[in-house]
This record gives sequence, C-alpha cells and structure tokens, in this order.
Amino acid sequence: MSHDTSSCLFCKIAAGDIPSTKVYEDDEFVAFRDIRPAAETHVLVIPRKHIDTLSNCTEDDSALLGRMLVLVARLADKLGVAYTGGETGFRTVINTGPGGGQEVYHLHAHILAGPRPWQRMG
Ligand code: 5GP
Ligand code: ZN
Repeated sequence: MSHDTSSCLFCKIAAGDIPSTKVYEDDEFVAFRDIRPAAETHVLVIPRKHIDTLSNCTEDDSALLGRMLVLVARLADKLGVAYTGGETGFRTVINTGPGGGQEVYHLHAHILAGPRPWQRMG
C-alpha cells in the first residue's frame, strides 16, 4: 500500500499548513483535537515522521512507538483524563487499515475520554 505523503492531511496539520487545535507539539510529535469528536475529550497524537499505518512499522520504529505511547499517557494527564483511581481513565485506539476503520493514512493514536455514551468511530 502506498500513499502520497505530499498530500497527506496529517503531515500538513503537523507542518501547520492546515489549521488544527493543537494541544501539544515537540520536535517529534504533534497532538491536536479531532475535528469530529467521538467523546468529550478526543485528541489525536501523530509523529511528525510520515508512517502510513501501524502495519508498516518495523523494529526501527520501536523507540518512536514507545515514546508515542508514553506521550499518550502524559497528554491524558495534561488533559485531565488520566487514570487516577475510581472511575477515571481513557481509551487509546490505533485504527489500522480499512478493516480497522482507518481513514487517514498517517499513523495516529486516538485518546478518548469523558462521559458515555460516545459516538461510534468508523
Ligand atoms: P482514523 O479513522 O483514520 O483512525 O481517524 C482519523 C480521524 O481524523 C477521524 O476521527 C477524523 O474525525 C479525524 N480528522 C479527519 N480530518 C481531520 C481534520 O482535518 N482535522 C482534524 N483535527 N481531524 C480530522
Ligand atoms: Zn503524513
């Protein structure tokens, strides 16, 4: 599977060429609010590096994927939805391929949290 990175929506969002509501950015990752939130808190975390999909990741991406997951936890804390006991917590989703409901082919993790019910994703 190959996709044209020059027309990649999330590469453009990471570069600031398409506006988004960013909640975090550093040299390696950007996090921004989903345009069609499925829950009260719905944030997408992406690497600046273009990777189409989780199925295209290799051992070389292990460190990046590890840092991305740690960032998800840090952002959940920053967004006030971390698991701190009781009924608190959040969901992390990485849709992969059409069978997994992936619509945008630039690797991203969804952070979802808030009161139920949530909207269906895909
Ligand atoms: P996927 O289905 O690929 O896992 O998730 C893609 C997500 O990107 C969807 O939840 C969709 O609402 C979100 N999305 C699509 N286009 C845009 C956009 O232009 N801006 C933002 N902020 N989110 C988008
Ligand atoms: Zn991209």
